[in-house]
Amino acid sequence: MFVLNSELAARLIAHAAAERPRECCGVVAAVNGRALAAYPARNVAPEPDRFSMHPQDLYDLYRLCEENGWDFCPYHSHPRGPACPSDTDRVLALWPDALQIIVSLQGVPPEVRAFYLRADAVVEEEVRVEGAPPAALLP
Ligand SMILES: [Zn+2]
Repeated sequence: MFVLNSELAARLIAHAAAERPRECCGVVAAVNGRALAAYPARNVAPEPDRFSMHPQDLYDLYRLCEENGWDFCPYHSHPRGPACPSDTDRVLALWPDALQIIVSLQGVPPEVRAFYLRADAVVEEEVRVEGAPPAALLP
């Protein structure tokens, strides 16, 4: 179970909407399965349907989490696809030990799901949004 308050969920969705049609990316800091804060990062991927976190942003956010003892949970968006790992996400499996959050703008309301992406398995972690009802999360 990963708990996201509705304000943070709305910020992830707003970031995804702002970057559409490109993917957005960033990092959610968490403690004990509960999100504390969301930090946007620059997506430097040349392709519209990919993300690649700017190396400096990635370094800074990784360090910020390390220094504070927070869990590093990268997020990115799927502007037109479902909130589940794409083939590219599965193949890259960039952070096998990190919970990765995917924001989908495909449906109404937008959807936020979380996964561990390992070379041999994809394991979903249930996301619970606490607070406002889903309609309030519309960008
Ligand atoms: Zn993806």
